[in-house]
Amino acid sequence: MKAEIISVGTELLLGQIANTDAQYISQCLSEIGIGVYFHTAVGDNWERIRLAAEIADSRSDILIFTGGLGPTVDDITKEVVCEYLGLKTVVHKKSYDRLCDRFAKMNRTVTENNLKQILFPEEAVVLDNDCGTAPGMYYERNGKIYIALPGPPFELKTMFSRYAMPLLRRKSSKIIKSRVLRIYGIGESAMENKVRDILDSQTNPTIAPLLGNGDVTLRITAMSDNENDAAKIIAPVETCLRERLGSYVYGTDNDTPESVLVDLLLKSGKTISAAESCTGGLIASRITDVPGASGVLKESFVTYSNEAKHKYLGVKECTLQEYGAVSEQTALEMAYGLIMNTGCDVAISVTGIAGPGGGTPEKPVGLVYTGTALKTENGIVTNVRQNNFVGTRDKIKFNAATTAIIDAVNMIKKQDER
Ligand code: ATP
Repeated sequence: MKAEIISVGTELLLGQIANTDAQYISQCLSEIGIGVYFHTAVGDNWERIRLAAEIADSRSDILIFTGGLGPTVDDITKEVVCEYLGLKTVVHKKSYDRLCDRFAKMNRTVTENNLKQILFPEEAVVLDNDCGTAPGMYYERNGKIYIALPGPPFELKTMFSRYAMPLLRRKSSKIIKSRVLRIYGIGESAMENKVRDILDSQTNPTIAPLLGNGDVTLRITAMSDNENDAAKIIAPVETCLRERLGSYVYGTDNDTPESVLVDLLLKSGKTISAAESCTGGLIASRITDVPGASGVLKESFVTYSNEAKHKYLGVKECTLQEYGAVSEQTALEMAYGLIMNTGCDVAISVTGIAGPGGGTPEKPVGLVYTGTALKTENGIVTNVRQNNFVGTRDKIKFNAATTAIIDAVNMIKKQDER
């Protein structure tokens, strides 16, 4: 079945809001094997909404309208759809009672314009709005499905997932399942070169490379009759891709570098600290974004100045003088000093030039040293990487933090494998 989403709202056309409703519905439909063929956006105008409905009806089997179910005069979606389909509307008793109930609880009285929200064709299924006042509508005729949903994203998501998805799921005999491989440390084109033949030879599953937030992803998508079969289609392809990409694959699906790190630390019972210069606390902040971080992060330092690097981490003054704050030696001493001073098991250090100023020909903007130190049975193992990032200050800081986090992940994994 071909689906089309018709999002109604002049704000969408003016660029004041992004069409996240259409994005959400598309994601949900793809999971149940219903292909979305068109996204249409149209303003709050009777003739143009009607025209959009006609065009969609000529090419799609499922028409999903979003927005314009509210009480104000410019909320006309349901009225246009009903007029287009030749359906009369009457008061929907259950929705009327719910509306009165809701208003009574808020100590407000139902106004005349609220009443238009509870007018529906008798032939339609009314979709409850558990988060707002405007119910939605599901109507089926001659093998076609017409759905109207409220615009506010929270209302739409709740209504769509609770009430529309179960009805639509029955219409699709296929499911679509995806597995995302998260990759870092290799550019998109270099990654593609490594796996080009695998990408080209696949039809089910399909494999799509995508640029993520500083990382690269490969989305493996299988269409099948059920979850189990889809998983079986994906598994061998995932194995082949992992064999080619090795430790560049740091995680899957909704993993982030920091969630993988926290997970790994929790599993191996290790603690971590960070000594950050140019990232200014970003690493600690990203680690604390992960639930459970309190079990692994005890303390962290933003040692921005040379004095702080010396005072808190024991970086030698002669190191700072001879090699500079942005140097392999300083990064190494920062990580080493951190492990000694805090007693943590894993230490991350970052020192670099995030720009836009401060660069020199020898030490340009984007030069960042990331260090890792790990306590082992045989002493402290250290590693420093020289990175040359490009981009804005924000991007350099973000990539420096990601690199440092992933270096720590790889070092812990390597040690755990021994
Ligand atoms: P309301 O009862 O709030 O009037 P409605 O169903 O009439 O709801 P709209 O008036 O079209 O919906 O939109 C209400 C708000 O919902 C918009 O201001 C916007 O913030 C959000 N919204 C509308 N459409 C979309 C969309 N397609 N994607 C994301 N947000 C949207």
